[in-house]
Amino acid sequence: MQRTPANKIKPMKLGDLMVREGLLTPDALQKALTMQKQTGMISDLGQPGHYKPLGLICVEMKLITKQDLQRFLSRHHKRIQIGELMINMGLINQEQLNHVLEQQRFSSNRFGTLLVQSGIISEQQLTNALSMQLDIPRILPSPELIDPELLKGIDEQFLRQHECLPVHRYGNQMVVVMSDPLNSELLQTLLDRFQCKITPAIAPASEILNTLTYLFKPRRKTKNAPEPPNELDEKLLKLSSHAKPTKEQASPIAHFLIRSAVEAGATALHLESLEKYVRLRFRIDGALKHRTDLPVRLGPPLIDCIKTPFRIKREDYWQEKITTTIGRQQVELKISFFSGMWGENLVLHITYIPPRLMGIEDMGFSPQNQHKIENLLNRAGGILLAACPHRSGKSTLLYAAIAHLNHPNTSILTLEDAVDYAIPGVVQNHYGAGGKDSYSALIEAMNDYDSDVVMVAELKDQGVSERIDQAALNGKKVLAALNACDTTAALHRLQNLQATHFLTTPVPLLLVSQRLVRKLCEQCKTNFVPNPEELKVLHISATERKNFLFWQAQGCEDCNDEGYKGMSAIHEVLELNESLRQALRRGLTASGLRELARNGQRLITLAEDGVYKVIQGITSLEEVMRVTVPHEGDSLGGRSLKEIVAACEGRSLTGI
Ligand SMILES: [Zn+2]
Repeated sequence: MQRTPANKIKPMKLGDLMVREGLLTPDALQKALTMQKQTGMISDLGQPGHYKPLGLICVEMKLITKQDLQRFLSRHHKRIQIGELMINMGLINQEQLNHVLEQQRFSSNRFGTLLVQSGIISEQQLTNALSMQLDIPRILPSPELIDPELLKGIDEQFLRQHECLPVHRYGNQMVVVMSDPLNSELLQTLLDRFQCKITPAIAPASEILNTLTYLFKPRRKTKNAPEPPNELDEKLLKLSSHAKPTKEQASPIAHFLIRSAVEAGATALHLESLEKYVRLRFRIDGALKHRTDLPVRLGPPLIDCIKTPFRIKREDYWQEKITTTIGRQQVELKISFFSGMWGENLVLHITYIPPRLMGIEDMGFSPQNQHKIENLLNRAGGILLAACPHRSGKSTLLYAAIAHLNHPNTSILTLEDAVDYAIPGVVQNHYGAGGKDSYSALIEAMNDYDSDVVMVAELKDQGVSERIDQAALNGKKVLAALNACDTTAALHRLQNLQATHFLTTPVPLLLVSQRLVRKLCEQCKTNFVPNPEELKVLHISATERKNFLFWQAQGCEDCNDEGYKGMSAIHEVLELNESLRQALRRGLTASGLRELARNGQRLITLAEDGVYKVIQGITSLEEVMRVTVPHEGDSLGGRSLKEIVAACEGRSLTGI
């Protein structure tokens, strides 16, 4: 194959290359460069300006689209110097680049190493940014993911010196994980050495060096006896011994992936088939975190390996569960799939046994909302309706209410789609457990039973809502859930379900909407003054922003550079009172209803509760923006920060 030697590729200035590619005209480049110079000098607030990367300026000036820029960077990364690329990604500024280049004159260290050593950027940030911008797989150089055959005959010193490690080989193609995949000289050296096509992947230098130390260390006998195989292990192992070579390779990897997900405390493992690789991500603390990429060929056998123990039919995969022990942790596993353009995608859902049941006081309610909830739970009867979309901790919220009500002298019955947690002292049932009774008939039976509290996982239709209203009228406390994006939307949804008896019944009804947010890491969170635009997006007045301490994520060793550790939630809690009932009967619009709830009921919106928690240092504005879509009606009369803090703390709202 004719190939230009990699080391002959001459690096070019990004702007010149964009012109040469026809992405920009020379005129447009000039305009962008002038703009870059201006923004670098002085900002709109009269403070020293920030250096803006040329690519970003071109996007902001609408000279190119963001996708164009990404495609361009991905296509030409071999021609762009790492320093210039870092500047264009906004990770370093020109001054820092000059400083590191100066250091490089007297050092044999790589550019990336010097950048990290100078404390300008962390290794993880460097790796993640390069992987994302250049579409280079980020492979975890874990010994379990490396094909040991590839290391035979290779000198450790060679790999150490070049901070690289071969991972997989298929025919004439070898995936090599390296700390600097932009180093064209190294790519050429590897090509000469291995005599095959090199597909670069990226990982931090320290991870590669640690793995090399482990792989080349003389093996000693391990003191710890291996753990006995469990049900899942046995099925995976059985599969490997009869399978084709690729499956043999995939089986221990599948095993390793599941084990690492459990060790990391993940609630789901995602395997996504992409064009160039398979991406593995874990859902930890509610957010998806990239774990590693894998060669595309490993995708189908890996997915097969994970699916096989379930022995399922596609239509009822959700019913199939495996309870097993991984490490010392007992877990329940379920799977779901989705076919995409590049192949099958799989999610392995992990539930830990025993679960950690949270109390109402652990749910992160602001003082006023907590007061409203406890008020309803501590009185006789009433309905608590969790009005949240999927995956916003609806079950955790209902279980927390059950934990609050669960006493030896209280009888509690539940009807759930799937029993997530078995709670001692509570009679739990799940719909579809094999019985022939309809959902409504089961609720009817719960009503007839001499219970004090009933929990119904989903208000599915008019029949269900009528029955739970009847239960509440009979003096039972009812806990239920409804899919809705906020509390006022839930009221409209009740109307759509023809559950109009809620509009006339005297039963107290409290609607709670919730979103899960990541908690800021206590070790590294920092103060900042938000940009007025950020608050405006959340319909919050920015006038007093300088009078409050806002917190944001930073990243440290303690939080694995994430800036976050643990989970909390933001809420919107609305009690349905007579004026809202009347408004609903009159058929008030969504915005009108929202306005009435905010002004008449002092409703604190999800976004406002979120901002209160940013000021409290619990979460960040990015998290609040990630999980909320502010209601259009909230744009009318945005509250000041002072009013929000007072409302969340239940103090008098002077000035509203
Ligand atoms: Zn931290």
